[in-house]
Amino acid sequence: MAEEWSYDTVIVRFGCEVGVKSSRTRVHYEKEVCKQIEKLLEAEGIDHRIEYVFGRAYVASGDAVRAAKLATRIFGVSSVSPALKTSSKIDDIVHTALKVAQKTLKERITFAVRCRRTGNHPYTSMDICRKVGSEILQLFKENGLKVNLKNPDVTIKIEVRDDKAYVYTEEYSGPGGFPLGVQGKVICLLSGGIDSPVACWLMMKRGALIIPVYFDSSPTFSDEASRMKALDCAKVLFRWAGRKGEMYVIPYEEALTTIKRESPERYTCILCKRFMYRVAEKIAEIEKAEGIVTGEAVGEQASQTLRNLRVLNEAVKRYPVHRPLLGFDKVETEAIARKIGTYDISIKKSLGCTAAPRHPILKAKLEEVLEVEKRIEVEKMVEETLEKAKKVEI
Ligand code: ATP
Ligand code: MG
Repeated sequence: MAEEWSYDTVIVRFGCEVGVKSSRTRVHYEKEVCKQIEKLLEAEGIDHRIEYVFGRAYVASGDAVRAAKLATRIFGVSSVSPALKTSSKIDDIVHTALKVAQKTLKERITFAVRCRRTGNHPYTSMDICRKVGSEILQLFKENGLKVNLKNPDVTIKIEVRDDKAYVYTEEYSGPGGFPLGVQGKVICLLSGGIDSPVACWLMMKRGALIIPVYFDSSPTFSDEASRMKALDCAKVLFRWAGRKGEMYVIPYEEALTTIKRESPERYTCILCKRFMYRVAEKIAEIEKAEGIVTGEAVGEQASQTLRNLRVLNEAVKRYPVHRPLLGFDKVETEAIARKIGTYDISIKKSLGCTAAPRHPILKAKLEEVLEVEKRIEVEKMVEETLEKAKKVEI
């Protein structure tokens, strides 16, 4: 009977862009990824001991498969593999590879052995592949296994590093990118629709911490379900961050009522967005953030024509507005939303925004906008709205 065992190590590979940084930055980023994996495993109660070497981390754990799955949520990780550790002695490698083969190879399938090696050893990678391959064929003589180097059903992979070796078959993909936090903070206009959660996640992937801001225009122009969607999306995003976070919820009914009443109908969306940008700019100052993020994409909504984006930009002077989805087609955005887990929340039924006119302006004129904003004393309204802001722990 085959010996009972379980994987005891997680091999962690870092995001490819981490690898092209200068050695100093690379070590800093890789160690940051390790810290975040450590924190997550700690929070999940999984035993672990991380060994970091330049370009890799090896996490020793009694629950390596679960630890590996969790590590796929850490930004800066490109992939992970649950593995069985042994020494770099050839006999140990063969013995360990056979154990892994016994667990993973089924009758009548094809397989290959691959090996990569770092350090000095009395054998080449090819020697290891040949030896392990022939021992597997020998052991499974009766089972009709075949070698197929081009397109095998299962690949037994061996990573030899100095005096240790690791055997594995599976690789789980991580998000890639840079470790969260290395870029500082951004203020994110998060609506709970499909786009803005994806925009937030893409910024997180590049290393930015997010502070979501939701404008709640209920009950007149929106509803509780819309607010819940935004909060639930924020929850999913903070789960990616592996930590609790804070979100601003801004009571917006009163300001939007004034905007709607005082603006030419076709201009409501432009004035509304400019108002949101202004409030976001104030929050950016309070939170010492580096910019403002939205889910806008060129032409996706009337307020997102190139002209209108230009008029929107004019509302903020001290902070850049980042729009990671600018060049995305909706299907591309939706694919990411599904992958990160916000799609099903975003498509839930809700009122959305009922303040939007049927025919919003496509080419807004800045002078018209400025004239309305002067009339409604927009700066004062921004201050009053900000005073009502609530910070919610997510
Ligand atoms: P989304 O899918 O993110 O809702 P959208 O394509 O529906 O975006 P709009 O409703 O025009 O487009 O909103 C454009 C952007 O403005 C959003 O991506 C988001 O960043 C921000 N935004 C819109 N509504 C709100 C809101 N109620 N609170 C916070 N931000 C908002
Ligand atoms: Mg929307």
